[in-house]
Amino acid sequence: MVNEKIAMVGTPCQIIAASKINYYGEKTGGSSIDLKIGLFCMENFSYTYLKMFLKEKNIDLNDVKEFRIENNKFKVFLDDEVQEFPISQTHSFKRKNCDICTDYTSNLADISVGSVGSPKGYSTVIVRTEKGSNIIQDLISNDLVLEEPMEEKLLNLLKRVSNKKINTNLENIKIRENNSHPVIYKRMVNDDEITQLSDECQFDCLNSDVIKEGACVLCGSCEFVCPIDIIHINERKPFKKGKCREGCHACYYACPRTFSSDKIISKDLDSKPLGEYLEIYSLKSDMNTGQDGGIVSEILLYLLDKNLVDSVLIVGEDENNPWKPIPKLTSSKDEVLKAKGTKYSTVPIGFKALKSK
Ligand SMILES: Cc1cc2nc3c(=O)[nH]c(=O)nc-3n(C[C@H](O)[C@H](O)[C@H](O)COP(=O)(O)OP(=O)(O)OC[C@H]3O[C@@H](n4cnc5c(N)ncnc54)[C@H](O)[C@@H]3O)c2cc1C
Ligand code: SF4
Ligand code: SF4
Ligand code: SF4
Repeated sequence: MVNEKIAMVGTPCQIIAASKINYYGEKTGGSSIDLKIGLFCMENFSYTYLKMFLKEKNIDLNDVKEFRIENNKFKVFLDDEVQEFPISQTHSFKRKNCDICTDYTSNLADISVGSVGSPKGYSTVIVRTEKGSNIIQDLISNDLVLEEPMEEKLLNLLKRVSNKKINTNLENIKIRENNSHPVIYKRMVNDDEITQLSDECQFDCLNSDVIKEGACVLCGSCEFVCPIDIIHINERKPFKKGKCREGCHACYYACPRTFSSDKIISKDLDSKPLGEYLEIYSLKSDMNTGQDGGIVSEILLYLLDKNLVDSVLIVGEDENNPWKPIPKLTSSKDEVLKAKGTKYSTVPIGFKALKSK
């Protein structure tokens, strides 16, 4: 693991998980993730319920070419038509943990990418770290991506959309807390208290504080950090088979929905709709189409081409179940290109695959 460098792509909650695994490395064992590419994310769905919803609408997942959420509509692109549903109809299969999530633009990533904020066919790219900046500058100066000036109107739209998610979900958090359902990842706790509290916690606490509270994002980081492999994850939640190792608290520290140091998730991020950043662009790949500007795939191909990373952690599609997301750790450019596009359902990111590294 020590000499490997890995880039990952993920939703904001998965990016938080990766950040916590490394920040609390002494407790969790750390990881070889060296670069985080975060996606914008308003919500995510359960694959099983998404499939059922589409079946009710007589849509076969095999016929779907693309999913897209635009202008408050859930759009399903078929061969020769687009079926549109009001976004409110997706609430029945939205994962309930998304209702308490206040990160829209992957605040903890090196580079964040989404569609809102840019013209059609382009991606909005928020660069947050020097490492991220070097990559994007290189892509631009080598004409590997095309740039459009950021439009003030679209940038303001992006801020509004992000603020709406933050404010709606802060309200949901208040409601849960008032109803004795703790949302502990949003609690103001200092570093000493975090250590004190977390050092008393093993999987049973994770189960009661996060999983049973409907706060689990199904990221898979608890499964990855467990030193004795007793955590398993099914389609719905993590569970434990066996007895915890004495003195181990790794899963509790790694979970994105337990306490986090202010040094990882700064408490004032909720007042910054785009988080902290260095640069922001509207870009599209010169070669590849993708969900939007194909920028995520372009960055991954560049990283592999230049040997800046050894492999990339991506989310592809299950060959036997259309649109079912499958995590993949790969160094194959073909696999990267095959993984283009957004699979609108949750999957434990492939942290587990890093175990063999
Ligand atoms: C669940 C979800 C919700 C989103 N919501 C929004 C939104 O509200 N507003 C917005 O502007 N953008 C949203 N996005 C991001 C958007 O759909 C595009 O992924 C982004 O603009 C990048 O486009 P691209 O053409 O550069 O990526 P591409 O080059 O097409 O690459 C897409 C990458 O996304 C990864 N990926 C695909 N599905 C998943 C998944 N389920 N989990 C983790 N990684 C995945 C793949 O590994 C692939 O490398 C969302 C993405 C996801 C996965
Ligand atoms: S918790 Fe839901 S809304 Fe938040 S980043 Fe994860 S999938 Fe997206
Ligand atoms: S041994 Fe127990 S506390 Fe440690 S990571 Fe595994 S499940 Fe969690
Ligand atoms: S309980 Fe495990 S899978 Fe769920 S959010 Fe926490 S670390 Fe991720």
